[in-house]
Amino acid sequence: MTGDVEDRREEWEGPVPVPNGANADFWAATLEGELLYQRCAECGTSQLYPRAVCTGCGAVDPAFEVSEGTGTVYTYTVCHIPGEPGFKDRTPYVVANVELTEGPRLLALVDCEPDEIEVGAPVGVTFWQVTDEAALPVFELR
Ligand SMILES: [Zn+2]
Repeated sequence: MTGDVEDRREEWEGPVPVPNGANADFWAATLEGELLYQRCAECGTSQLYPRAVCTGCGAVDPAFEVSEGTGTVYTYTVCHIPGEPGFKDRTPYVVANVELTEGPRLLALVDCEPDEIEVGAPVGVTFWQVTDEAALPVFELR
């Protein structure tokens, strides 16, 4: 298991993922506390979010691997105006581009105060289950 899964289905008012196609396995794994990424067997490119083809060489259906769920903050922003109506009670909140230890980057919420985060900070993943089908990867400072 990569990270803990907290049930936030009752309180979550933000947007929710709708698993389909290439990302169905990714979202199913989040419910088990696993953060998946794709690594292409043809060219070695690693990527997130899941896509039906490799962004490096176009190979179809790159295989999933389980991330350790650790990484560093590549860059971040502090949102004072909610990007979604469901985030109105969360401001200010932190969204970061997290570079996973395995290489790929993803955008995610970071559960911290805005003045606690900095570029390069080590983070680890946890999951907020927001529907019966998906849990959001949310990072915490480590
Ligand atoms: Zn490839």
